[in-house]
Amino acid sequence: MNEETHYQKNAKRLLFIDRDGTLIKEAPPDYQVDSFAKLAFYPHVFEFMNKIAGECNYELVMVSNQDGLGTSSFPETSFWPVQNFIIESLENENIHFNAVHFDRTFPEDHAPTRKPGIGMFTDYLNNQLYDLANSFVIGDRVTDMQLAKNLGCKGIWLNNNSSLGATEIKDTIEVIKSFIVLETKTWKDIYEFLKIIPTV
Ligand SMILES: [Mg+2]
Repeated sequence: MNEETHYQKNAKRLLFIDRDGTLIKEAPPDYQVDSFAKLAFYPHVFEFMNKIAGECNYELVMVSNQDGLGTSSFPETSFWPVQNFIIESLENENIHFNAVHFDRTFPEDHAPTRKPGIGMFTDYLNNQLYDLANSFVIGDRVTDMQLAKNLGCKGIWLNNNSSLGATEIKDTIEVIKSFIVLETKTWKDIYEFLKIIPTV
């Protein structure tokens, strides 16, 4: 067994999963899920995330931009009850996230931590524990697919509103598309795609 094979065999593969528009529905017009009245889960997310968590060999990482979280425009007290409910609801279906990363900045801050920036994910880079080349970003926005490129992962585009997020893209859509391995509107398709990838 050579070094490369050894590395591939032991490194963990990750699914970086967006929250709003992916696990739950987007909440226009302000796109701020700050009350239970604005919470709706993405169709069939429990059914197929349960299968992905149980049958496919990935660690789950939640990644989300929450613009202005902790400021007066988006107080913590209106965010955490809903977020905690989402996590508990998923855990009740055996869907466990190993890590949760929120960026709290606004787009105009141009922070390196804001998706599609990789400032929240430096621990995963150049780390032999992780096999990023065989990991995926799952998200509904073009910026999630840009994140996949920036991390050296592949993108699974849950494309239910493709115009959103285009302003923060640094590459052409053609470049981004070269990192997208699946474009779909359903979690069923995502499960079926991941299921046939050989476990290493
Ligand atoms: Mg989203």
